[in-house]
Amino acid sequence: MLSPAVDNLVTQLTRLPGVGTRTAQRLAFHLLQRSTEEALALATAIEDVKERVRFCRDCGNLTEEERCAICRDERRDHSLICVVEQPADLISLERTHEYRGLYHVLGGALSPLDGVEPEHLRIDELFKRVERNGVQEVVLATNPNMTGEATAAYLADRLRGRARVTRLASGLPVGGDLEYADEVTLGRALTGRRDMEP
Ligand SMILES: [Zn+2]
Repeated sequence: MLSPAVDNLVTQLTRLPGVGTRTAQRLAFHLLQRSTEEALALATAIEDVKERVRFCRDCGNLTEEERCAICRDERRDHSLICVVEQPADLISLERTHEYRGLYHVLGGALSPLDGVEPEHLRIDELFKRVERNGVQEVVLATNPNMTGEATAAYLADRLRGRARVTRLASGLPVGGDLEYADEVTLGRALTGRRDMEP
C-alpha cells in the first residue's frame, strides 16, 4: 500500500508477540520519523543479541558465555534446581532474593494442542542433569495455568524417585504468569513450596 519497504517492516513487526497490524504500522511510522542513527540502534541491538547471546550449556538461561553467571556461581546451592518456562520467570524469581539454587529453563510449556511435545523443550537435559549431578530437590516453577500445570505434572511423574519434587505454593494468581507476579507473592510461594503428590 505505502511502499514495499514499509510493508516489509510492518510484516516483520507483526511477527512479534502481541503486535497487531495497527501497532506495527504505528511503530513503523515512528521509526521512519526518527533519525537514521536512532532507528538503526534498534537494528544493531537485534544484531548484537543474535550474535552474542546464547543459551547456557547447563540450564538454558541466556548468557554471553558458555555457562551463565548463576551456573558458574559456586556459592549457590548446586543440589537444588528450580524449573521455569522462560528466562523472564528466572528473573522474577531472582528478584525475590529467596532462592539460592540453580535453574533449568525449559523454553516453554507442554501443549500438545499447539504441537509442543516433550522433545521440543529442554526436558531431556533436565533429566540428565538430575541424574548426573547429585540433585536433591527439583522445584517446579512453571506457570500456574493449564499448560504450566500439565508440564509440572509430567515432570513430577518422571522425576519421582530420583529427587525430591516440589511445586510453588498456591497464592499465585491462577491462570496467571509467573513473570507478572509481584516479588512478595512469588517469594512466599517459593518458601512455602510443597511436595508434589503422586
Ligand atoms: Zn546456566
